[in-house]
Amino acid sequence: MSAEERSRIVALDKRRVWHPYTAMDHYRDAVDPLVIVRAAGSRLFDADGRGYIDANASWWTCALGHGHPRLVDALRRQSEVLCHTALAGIAHAGAAELADALCAVAPGGLEHVFFSDDGSTAVEVAMKLALQFWSQSGRSQRTRFVALEDAFHGETLGVTALGGVEVFRRPFAGVLLDAVRVPPPREPATAPKAFDALARAVEEHAETLAAVVVEPVVQGAAGMRTYDPAFLRAARELCDRFDVLLVFDEVFAGYGRTGPMWAGEHAGVAPDLLCTAKGFTGGMLPMAATLATDRVFEGFLGDADRAFYYGHTFCGNPLGAAVALEVLRVFEDERVLERARPRAARIARAFAEMATLPGVESTRSLGMIGALDLAGDAGYLARAGWRVYDEARRRGAYLRPMGNVVYVTPSLNIPDDDLEELLAIVRESVEAAAAAEGGSP
Ligand SMILES: *Cc1c(COP(=O)(O)O)cnc(C)c1O
Repeated sequence: MSAEERSRIVALDKRRVWHPYTAMDHYRDAVDPLVIVRAAGSRLFDADGRGYIDANASWWTCALGHGHPRLVDALRRQSEVLCHTALAGIAHAGAAELADALCAVAPGGLEHVFFSDDGSTAVEVAMKLALQFWSQSGRSQRTRFVALEDAFHGETLGVTALGGVEVFRRPFAGVLLDAVRVPPPREPATAPKAFDALARAVEEHAETLAAVVVEPVVQGAAGMRTYDPAFLRAARELCDRFDVLLVFDEVFAGYGRTGPMWAGEHAGVAPDLLCTAKGFTGGMLPMAATLATDRVFEGFLGDADRAFYYGHTFCGNPLGAAVALEVLRVFEDERVLERARPRAARIARAFAEMATLPGVESTRSLGMIGALDLAGDAGYLARAGWRVYDEARRRGAYLRPMGNVVYVTPSLNIPDDDLEELLAIVRESVEAAAAAEGGSP
């Protein structure tokens, strides 16, 4: 792309496009955006032909890298035959095969698949299924949810009510559903308190609870914060004892991001409803799924007014289904989870070694996630991460931070050389940002 064409695109963009999660005045006045023209494997390429390692797999979606030939081929083949059809009263091979393959790899007991468009809708579906399930099981007072502090479940008003990231929630606080909020057990020292709080929340509110909704083991948008998997076992036991539904939002954590296929496997427990998106189509198309047990499904049988009157226009879209099915096949054929293990170990080692760098407060890792907290202001609006972002961009990596949290969530199949290069860039960028900050050496 020529320099003039690049300038024209940036001017159009700044005039017309309202960017997500972006302070638009700052963006228009002070940001020179990357203009991406293509992507391949673990790299994005800009208008000048420069490559950038995609450190966050394009918002946590491209589990198999960009342009995986089998996914591109599945999309092309499907597009020649059937791009879209409604799913109401219609069956097509893609949705049927995908639902079957998904249930085969899902935690035990999840037997039915409801398709939607993205992570937010997958969780919205789970909330509505839970509410309607209870209302037609003679328990219509069960209308509330337990959610975790710092939770993130997406963007619709329904799921925003479950969210606990204050700056995302604040503008809507006055109109949101009520949620009972409990702290996840991040530190061994506070774990007993967290287990107590969960037990108290479920026990005290059991008669009015529809479901407990959690991101299992890792809260991505909270800054890649992990917690003790035993908490999920406690949640499962409490939900069983008080007959409350348990929802796992595996939108970020599923598809091997934390090591096993599903993050719930760290605890060895299965939910009543499971939400998947992001890695689900390998970042190729917006499509998601909510899986349900027989019990939940059967709660919707009977008279016609018991049906789930819900369905997004592109529900079960054949293009998305063809790609999502191929993703599952690639996971199996290329032994993606098994082959990611040494890479995960490499990420763990590299982040542990960064713990002693100047300006770094703490580090953590889990599966194909590595994160560090920079010292100073914390939270999503902190600026420290952006100084590291600028340094990384100069060195050839796209390393979008969350406030003071610098993290990598690369594709699971990132080539070893690219991973080494990325980890070196993270380290050098953190060092360079700290040196600039200190005004030395
Ligand atoms: C990203 C995310 C969502 C929302 O998914 P979208 O596809 O952005 O709507 C929901 N839950 C979790 C845990 C997520 O990380």
